Amino acid sequence: CGVFGIYNHKEAPQLTYLGLHALQHRGQESAGICASDGEKWYKHRGMGLVSEAFGKGDLEKFKGHIAIGHTRYTTAGSSKIENAQPLFFRYAQGSMAVAHNGNLVNAAVLRKELEAKGSIFQTTSDTEVIAHLIARSERPDLPGAVKDALQHIKGAYALCVMNQNQLVIALDPNGLRPLSLGRLGDAICVASETCAFDIIGAEYWRDVQPGELIIVDENGIVETSHTEKTQRSMCIFEYIYFARPDSDIDGINVHMARKRLGKQLAKEASIEADVIIGVPDSSTSAAIGFAEATGIPYEIGLIKNRYVGRTFIQPSQELRERAVHLKLSAVRKVVEGKRVVMIDDSIVRGTTSNRIVRMLREAGAKEVHVRISSPPVMNPCFYGIDTSSREELIAATKSIEEIRLAIEADSLSFLSVDGMLEAIGREDSAPNRGHCLACFTGQYPTEIDFEEALPALK
Ligand code: 5GP
Ligand code: SF4
Ligand code: MG
Repeated sequence: CGVFGIYNHKEAPQLTYLGLHALQHRGQESAGICASDGEKWYKHRGMGLVSEAFGKGDLEKFKGHIAIGHTRYTTAGSSKIENAQPLFFRYAQGSMAVAHNGNLVNAAVLRKELEAKGSIFQTTSDTEVIAHLIARSERPDLPGAVKDALQHIKGAYALCVMNQNQLVIALDPNGLRPLSLGRLGDAICVASETCAFDIIGAEYWRDVQPGELIIVDENGIVETSHTEKTQRSMCIFEYIYFARPDSDIDGINVHMARKRLGKQLAKEASIEADVIIGVPDSSTSAAIGFAEATGIPYEIGLIKNRYVGRTFIQPSQELRERAVHLKLSAVRKVVEGKRVVMIDDSIVRGTTSNRIVRMLREAGAKEVHVRISSPPVMNPCFYGIDTSSREELIAATKSIEEIRLAIEADSLSFLSVDGMLEAIGREDSAPNRGHCLACFTGQYPTEIDFEEALPALK
């Protein structure tokens, strides 16, 4: 998901709307904004892309100097309007809105406990658990109640909570998801990725630190923490696949990091070939890096159709097969008669790679060598990215040679874990240089109650 927040700007909701467009890649299932002018609330949520969720007139009615927004990618809870964020609540101390990126790992347990005490839940989202905990706190002030609530939750959360005159920002003790702060004149903004600052003309200030709690209101900014027990483990998949290439996470530009992943992959698994191609869009940077390191020319061998809707109806197997060509097509003149190296950022189920290898052969490629700019994904993610259960992950049950056969490639190599860490180049004395690597190594940075956490991932 993507979160955005801004305080102290007369066009706060309009800027949030722009910010959400920049965070669209982080979630396409729903979008929403909550804003306030200090008294009244303004809110709207809708399904689909930001441009679909907000129709004509929806934004015009918004006013306010404070706003938060959200783009949703479903990992916990189902894809329906009740679960669209920001969630809005009235409670004993007033009202609040909550926008959350990340997945809690103990939401199911907490929900059961809260329900046993009489709480009535209106959504299936883990974010509502946070709201109930805030409402139950004995602290009358919002920041205090948020701090109280965070003592109970475990997992990944980049969080924006607001009432009519305060913006409260928090990041989990592991800093699993990215969250950055920016300034626009006298306004303070917060976003999942720095690309949202560029779109509104804000200046990057700094990244939110693991365990931090930041309060922005008319008295200024309070930079404090909700826990002392922190250890950074930033999701490495943000760099590999999820984040936008023009964003910087902890000062490391995502495009440059991907290029270095491609270069490192070339070091580890070079091959004689005629042309390097990437799977658009997320693998383009790595493919350029691989080409630079090997001296083999980079070419645009695959074209993505930007206009294909996400809900294409696939009535028969034959039409389903053709649907692959709707999204991607090969540039025949680039691959025909050539030994092609196809770079992708990751293999999860293996279906994408298989389809593309076939497509390249249909277009006349003589050989297709697949190079993946990350290690094999062998474990599920509980923190809000890959939702696949272990059975769905091709690398969980198959050897690399078996995967090669399944995707019908002439050769296949993955990047090593050490090579990946070296290429991203984060300087951090924490384990794994301050990254979460759990989907590759199985070592989760938080406690996980597998029985509770797994069924929640639907
Ligand atoms: P597969 O068909 O192997 O499951 O999908 C891998 C491809 O899907 C890659 O090209 C990757 O860019 C793309 N992809 C789409 N969503 C995700 C995601 O949530 N996680 C990862 N790792 N890759 C994804
Ligand atoms: Fe990211 Fe993988 Fe960790 Fe999930 S398990 S947070 S995808 S590194
Ligand atoms: Mg891809």
